[in-house]
Amino acid sequence: MEMFDVITIDRHRFHTDGKGVTTLVIVSGCPLKCRYCINGRLLSGAKTKKMTVEELLQRIMQDYCYFVATGGGITFGGGEPLLYYDAIMAFIRRVNGMFATTIETSLSVDVDVPKLLEAADRFIIDVKSTDCAIYRGYTGTGNEILLSNLEKISRVGLQGKCVIRIPDIKDFTTGEDIERSVNYVRGLGFENIDCFAYKVED
Ligand code: SF4
Repeated sequence: MEMFDVITIDRHRFHTDGKGVTTLVIVSGCPLKCRYCINGRLLSGAKTKKMTVEELLQRIMQDYCYFVATGGGITFGGGEPLLYYDAIMAFIRRVNGMFATTIETSLSVDVDVPKLLEAADRFIIDVKSTDCAIYRGYTGTGNEILLSNLEKISRVGLQGKCVIRIPDIKDFTTGEDIERSVNYVRGLGFENIDCFAYKVED
């Protein structure tokens, strides 16, 4: 049976990680080790609650009226939601369009991304950098899977369902690096691009 390892569920978020009122479900685990990861502290040794698709749906449905009124819904974040590919697919099938489903992801997991994106309403993709050396320096892992997944999305023409987030990462990226990343994703047909500065805690 498909299960989620849920760290926490944050309700009543407004226009922060999806349209309208959303419930953010933070799942455990990530293949990356970002230097400034604030979630890493949360993830290491964090207690999780195992939830089935049905159990999660029951929790989420508390806010169904808000979702309907505002066009909101659930956002899976983490951690890396794509580690729960089968469970999220099952969840989206079960929701069957009752409310919006958004996935915040680094795309650094080798799964059938176009199939999931077709089923979901939206991906928020944290690209970090399209430069392999910068990406590896910051995350400890190459960006080959990320780039391959971006290309797969581009090939099936689903770029319109994606928001691409490109951060300015202190000590890792320059303005030129960010411009190169923006041009790279634009070249693949992504138009909704959000550049922002990571807030680094001392
Ligand atoms: S992708 Fe997100 S959760 Fe994973 S290490 Fe990076 S910042 Fe942390």
